[in-house]
Amino acid sequence: MFVVMVASECAPVAKVGGLADVVFGLSRELEERGHSVEIILPKYDCMRTEHVVGMEVAWHDLWVPWAGDGIHCTVWFGFVHGRQCYFIEPHSSAHFFERGTYYGFWDDPTRFTFFSKAALQFMLDSGRRPDVIHTHDWQTALLPVLLFEMYAAAGMHDQRVCHTVHNFAHQGITNEYVLHASGLHRPEYFGAQDRMGDDLDHHAINLMKGGLVYANFITTVSPSHAWEARHTDLGCGLGHTLHRFQDKFGGVINGLDYDMWNPAIDPHIAHHFDATCIDDKAGNTKALRDKLHLREGRRPVIGYVGRLDTQKGLHLIRHALFFALHNDAQFVLLGSGSHHGINEDFWHLKQTLHDNRDCHLWIGYDEDLAHLIYAGCDMLIMPSLFEPCGLSQMIALRYGTVPVVRAVGGLKDTVFDWDHSDLPRDKRNGFVFEHPENEGVDSALRRALGLWRNEPKLFRRLVEQGMAYDYSWKDPAGHYLAIYDFIRHK
Ligand code: ADP
Repeated sequence: MFVVMVASECAPVAKVGGLADVVFGLSRELEERGHSVEIILPKYDCMRTEHVVGMEVAWHDLWVPWAGDGIHCTVWFGFVHGRQCYFIEPHSSAHFFERGTYYGFWDDPTRFTFFSKAALQFMLDSGRRPDVIHTHDWQTALLPVLLFEMYAAAGMHDQRVCHTVHNFAHQGITNEYVLHASGLHRPEYFGAQDRMGDDLDHHAINLMKGGLVYANFITTVSPSHAWEARHTDLGCGLGHTLHRFQDKFGGVINGLDYDMWNPAIDPHIAHHFDATCIDDKAGNTKALRDKLHLREGRRPVIGYVGRLDTQKGLHLIRHALFFALHNDAQFVLLGSGSHHGINEDFWHLKQTLHDNRDCHLWIGYDEDLAHLIYAGCDMLIMPSLFEPCGLSQMIALRYGTVPVVRAVGGLKDTVFDWDHSDLPRDKRNGFVFEHPENEGVDSALRRALGLWRNEPKLFRRLVEQGMAYDYSWKDPAGHYLAIYDFIRHK
């Protein structure tokens, strides 16, 4: 099968969060099974080009009709750790992808609508006719609309689209300008409630809704989150649309790239280990303490790695930090926020705790340190308010670090409580709490620390059971292939 992924991120060349890992990991697994996969990305000025091998111009002169005129693009090609990637570089005074960062601009809907259209134009002009185009999140959600309303007539009538929603909280709410600029026009038609008219703001165009309505299949990144999106306010206004299209909507848990995240060969960590030599993990705890100036001693280290976003339960992360300090444990945090105010708050907290040798806050993005934290910690906290899938808990499990999570979304589908799960005891792998409140965090951490301190053999068994889980792309890729097959033959 020939699959083209069109996305705004791909690890590690252009990564903000889990979306990037999914695009890379799924593509690799599909290729390993003999399918042909190409990835189309914007050519950001800030992307990590050191991860691209053999970058060369693939298409000199892509002309993308836009806003009554058009924009010339250069399309580059290069391998990103073996994946075939195309990077679209528009030449215009709007400098769509020359902003020094990936997101956060007033014209984001315009930037990514342009990208979606450019990706289709590139496929059309270069004769690419994939069996399936897999789009991701609001950034590329207009692609199926453009495909079926515009490009099908130009020659792309056999293509099918699978659209994956990684986060319902960001939907690309915009106005009719994107319709005019992309050449769709007809705001009365596309802006209708049964197409792209936003359900909450009736004057707005909702790009993600376009993806849901037009794609041949919609997935989100865990079965629990698929349910939450349809039945609770976690669908962020799209519950009704998902209900309408329930026959083409499902949840597929993300996989983890088991080559990139493998403690037996990970070049970023101090000591390699696997389930047969878990004691060697201690070398990473030492390296982590040395790096972050934490004191030595027999106390567990609790970690947090992730974006600093309200979604992640920031007040609960902060609470967990103080709980650790009051209970003779250590705490390390690696994170960065997209909001200046959030980063400021954490900088302030860091300064307040500056001379505390039991905790360290690293505000920023650091791939190497992330690996060392997963390898060196005893526990990882994820008190998310919502979590479509979550990769960090799966990485933690692979690195023998016990996840302590809130029972929501993908966390619920991957972490099973040591004391209370319905699964048999030998399948349990972490600690889970229900309500996003301080008491929930306290009780889960108390149980985790208690087991670590009083029942080291059982804690080790829990670690081993976690490491025995297979959250690689093996199963999820099978599910996606079944979906691709289904929509191809429908
Ligand atoms: P989300 O997609 O909501 O950001 P996930 O848990 O699905 O959350 O994925 C987060 C991914 O990004 C993980 O691979 C995590 O290690 C990585 N990550 C997040 N923040 C940072 C950071 N500040 N430094 C390094 N890696 C990070």
